Amino acid sequence: LNHEDMTLSYFHSPSFPAVRAITNHERKRILVTGGAGFVGSHLVDRLMLMGHEVIVLDNFFTGNKRNVQHWMGHPHFELIRHDVVDPFMIEVDQIYHLACPASPPHYQYNPIKTVKTSVMGTINMLGLAKRTKARFLLTSTSEVYGDPEEHPQKETYWGHVNPIGPRACYDEGKRVAETLTYSYMHQDEVDVRVARIFNTFGPRMNENDGRVVSNFIMQALRGDELTIYGDGQQTRSFQYIHDLVDGLILLMNKNYKDPVNLGNPEEYTIREFAEMIRSEINANVDIMSLPPTEDDPQRRRPDIGRAKRHLGWAPKFSVHQGIRETVQYFKNNKMEQSWYAT
Ligand code: NAD
Ligand code: UDP
Repeated sequence: LNHEDMTLSYFHSPSFPAVRAITNHERKRILVTGGAGFVGSHLVDRLMLMGHEVIVLDNFFTGNKRNVQHWMGHPHFELIRHDVVDPFMIEVDQIYHLACPASPPHYQYNPIKTVKTSVMGTINMLGLAKRTKARFLLTSTSEVYGDPEEHPQKETYWGHVNPIGPRACYDEGKRVAETLTYSYMHQDEVDVRVARIFNTFGPRMNENDGRVVSNFIMQALRGDELTIYGDGQQTRSFQYIHDLVDGLILLMNKNYKDPVNLGNPEEYTIREFAEMIRSEINANVDIMSLPPTEDDPQRRRPDIGRAKRHLGWAPKFSVHQGIRETVQYFKNNKMEQSWYAT
């Protein structure tokens, strides 16, 4: 085989999922920072299946090569170990900037690094967007609303964040990332999009990442008590990963520049959510109360009017549907891990 034959044989290899055939003109070069993480790897799957060329930058702090290993060797795919705190040069058409730990135990593990990732990482990626004239999308968060005094939260709400509390490294980091994004838009005409993502769950969540969905599912599967922090009256609204990926791709490709909430307004108290997981997985487990965590937002539900109006987007999956698929994933994953261990 000469080099060209090898490329072709890889391209047609039945071991890769079939990607859409599009013209070179339609195919974009897309950079996904944090693409080996939970959200990033699902976004990568969708962009690859659409026929685009995808480059992932990741330092593997919370992500894992296994999340994208099914694309390794595909001629449209590249995985690069890189920390976004350091500048990076490449020519691309679009940048989805996700790189940042998202679960509270992870982002609180090294708060200074979390702030550096949000601030310096976002400056570096905006600089790249400016130089290459790439369109830039920031994955911001509902945490910019802090412990909200308005409910549900609209994009026009400015938020209620403790700037020196344990969540500040993440919340304020993302708030500055938004400020930077719009400063580059006004000052340097960078073409920007900002998604404010609400709690999202699904397959490939890291089972030890400490977020409530993975904690409760793993505890119920192991037969351990479900751990509620505080009285469990705090609320969250949970969205399934595939809905989020739809929203991110729509936002990137529509012509709307203001921040857009992406979340599922189905709201649960954490106690109701624990009871739901228990009835889905294992009726025999107990629910225990642990001390509340500091500055835990008490209510959270997105107003998604803007996403509906400007993107024609609304979630399609119910929380129940998503939870069933996620439970199946964690069960399969456990089987796979015990197989690796033998
Ligand atoms: P994740 O932890 O699974 O993924 C983050 C990825 O970024 C990982 O692959 C990690 O290794 C990588 N990363 C972290 N720091 C980096 C650095 N300095 N350089 C390069 N790579 C780095 O989290 P996720 O849930 O997939 O979140 C992805 C994005 O979505 C984050 O920006 C997060 O703030 C945002 N978000 C997620 C949620 C959610 O519920 N999942 C909610 C709001 C916002
Ligand atoms: N939570 C809980 N038990 C757990 C993990 C989380 O009661 O084992 C609570 C947590 O205090 C918060 C909610 O569940 O009120 C969502 O927490 P998560 O860490 O998933 O996300 P975030 O706080 O960032 O929304």
